[in-house]
Amino acid sequence: MKKKTSVIVLLMFVAFTAFPAFSQAQMLASKGNDSGVMTKDSQAKLTPDAVLEDLMEGNKRFTANRPDKIDMPAQVKATSKGQYPKAVILSCIDSRVPVEMLFDQGIGDVFVARVAGNTEDESILGSMEYATAVAGSKLVMVLGHEACGAVKSAIDEFEAGDNVAHLLGTIEPAIDKVKGDRDSSNKEYVEEVIKVNVQETIDDIRERSPIIAGLEKEGKIKIVGAYYDLHTGAVSLVD
Ligand SMILES: [Zn+2]
Repeated sequence: MKKKTSVIVLLMFVAFTAFPAFSQAQMLASKGNDSGVMTKDSQAKLTPDAVLEDLMEGNKRFTANRPDKIDMPAQVKATSKGQYPKAVILSCIDSRVPVEMLFDQGIGDVFVARVAGNTEDESILGSMEYATAVAGSKLVMVLGHEACGAVKSAIDEFEAGDNVAHLLGTIEPAIDKVKGDRDSSNKEYVEEVIKVNVQETIDDIRERSPIIAGLEKEGKIKIVGAYYDLHTGAVSLVD
């Protein structure tokens, strides 16, 4: 009997030290509810700059391996009746770029649009317009990443049918802008195309979406470019 009791006490001790309760106080302070999800109020209070800071801070927690403790079932439940995401992020489909994870975001925090090479088309633009003009997100981020396979394939003029040709064609304007030999084995050249492709995509978003450009002019949203380093997990801004 005695032995059994001490085993239970030991197990309880291990459970408590191995799985500390997440800081509800921290989440209450930032989001105004005990499940830590975005609400209409918390979204309305955020500025575009505050959203950007929040994402960059989340990336610091990610690289430091100190993510916030998220109660997933509680967030699932709390977001079931509506969503008030703070940002819309356009990323490549690359499996090594887990968007919510690398910014340490929970359920209902960010919209994520993904397409190989992270370029816009009508559907992506429509999604971004919905995210900002309808759902109230304050930040549009275009996130490129190191050693992007889509960018390399575009540089190589990889051929695999009409659909791939269309996709890779969207990266062509960035390739045209970068000086130097068209060579996917030249890392420096590839990285330059990846960053120019992010800038090109942002220019295109402004040009092709009067709705998003208008919101930006009014100061209601911000559009930023960013780059994800596969080696370190760090995100840096692309000017
Ligand atoms: Zn990629």
